[in-house]
Amino acid sequence: MIRDLHEKLINQEITSEKLTEEYFAKIEKKDPEIGAYLSLNKEFALDKARAADKKIKNGEEVDLLAGIPCAIKDNICIEGLPATAGSKILGNFVSPYDASVISKLKENNSVFLGKTNLDEFAMGSSTENSAYQVTKNPHDTTRVPGGSSGGSAAAVAADECVWALGSDTGGSIRQPASFCGVVGLKPTYGLVSRYGLIAMASSFDQIGPIAKTVEDAAIILTRVAGCDRKDVTTMLAGGRSAFGGKSAGTIYEDRLTGDVDSIKIGVPKEYFAEGGLDKSVKSLVEKAIKKYEKLGAEIVGISLPSGEYALATYYIIMPSEVSSNLARFDGIRYGQSIEKEIEIDENMILRDIYFKSRAKYLGKEVKRRIMLGTYALSAGYYDQYYLKAQKVRALIKKEFEQIFKKVDLILGPTAPTPAFKIGEKTENPLEMYLSDIYTVTANIAGVPAISIPCGNVKIEGKELPVGLQLAGKWFREKELLSTAYAFEKS
Ligand code: GLN
Repeated sequence: MIRDLHEKLINQEITSEKLTEEYFAKIEKKDPEIGAYLSLNKEFALDKARAADKKIKNGEEVDLLAGIPCAIKDNICIEGLPATAGSKILGNFVSPYDASVISKLKENNSVFLGKTNLDEFAMGSSTENSAYQVTKNPHDTTRVPGGSSGGSAAAVAADECVWALGSDTGGSIRQPASFCGVVGLKPTYGLVSRYGLIAMASSFDQIGPIAKTVEDAAIILTRVAGCDRKDVTTMLAGGRSAFGGKSAGTIYEDRLTGDVDSIKIGVPKEYFAEGGLDKSVKSLVEKAIKKYEKLGAEIVGISLPSGEYALATYYIIMPSEVSSNLARFDGIRYGQSIEKEIEIDENMILRDIYFKSRAKYLGKEVKRRIMLGTYALSAGYYDQYYLKAQKVRALIKKEFEQIFKKVDLILGPTAPTPAFKIGEKTENPLEMYLSDIYTVTANIAGVPAISIPCGNVKIEGKELPVGLQLAGKWFREKELLSTAYAFEKS
């Protein structure tokens, strides 16, 4: 997809300006129904498009992403544009700087069409927690697109952009990719800079691509990955630190051989146990396993016994980090303030402004997680919850280390069900959290994981996509992408 468009651009069969205008026309037509975008930047995008066209006309060599229209999740900062993170508290915020991934994409002459919808501060699995709008699944508009990067996934699936960026803390790139029938990659923790990503849970958050093909995801990863002085957790592709040295950069799209002959794929028995896994999803994933076997991969039955505790661990550590990261949105340091809306009397103290601003401008799910997190971190309960969860996290990581001595990749479903109905889980947060059961472990262990489409199920006359998840070794995105590519092209 990206490569084809690039060829057309450099052969001057089309211009980026024309392409960008075509995408805005598509958005105008489809987005009133889908609701993928929170804001559009027409002039800004066309400016970038013309700059790319000029370079091409002058015969300059341009990057694969040059002049290609993309969409950015609204928790990633672009200088001069709004970044709401799906929250009313950032309703008036305009970013004064670029996220590091945006600086890199700007160097490559990417064209940013607009910012996409998300669950407030990326907390959710359906995009219904956005304070602004509910995004609809393009395959069935009575269903959710998944979340929290639901706007980005829906925009890619509806072809309202060529590709998009999302962020993934517990599955927010992969689960919506699965629901919308597109490719979503969560890179190894530390491969992509988080500078300029509005933090949810900093020890889990990663930015990654949502795209139409595995090759596109690889092309995008190449452009956003790498060491960044502004995020000390970033590393080189091999997992080494490059501070002080110059990194050559890894090219992910050049080793998509599709050869899985020497690949060992582990299939955890726990993933298929009786329980929440939908039968139709199970049968599609089992078909995928057979396909890999046919392609020459070795399938190995494995066990992930601590996996059972992954969701609980995630839902202790994540809110703890959330409660700390969101403390800055108090109406004084950041965000909408109640200050100008109420009578300030002399008995009021600063804390009243904090309380009232947060009460008015933060949503229900965000408040729930702040409360859960403060509780888990409180002096009386720290050992029992936070510390315990950190210990289980270490155990899960160890288990992955052991398993990766035996196999190269771990395969399973991305989500237990296809896209669910809008409103189906909004009253029951625990039900909603279960949607992340297969995705959170990769964030806990920090390993890379990808969701690729593996078929459709027909429900109520609509074809709903199902995603297959592959998780790989730390910083071994090449192997992961190539194995995903093998499936896609077979
Ligand atoms: N759905 C998960 C949650 O609600 C994951 C969110 C994410 O990855 N940002 O926390």
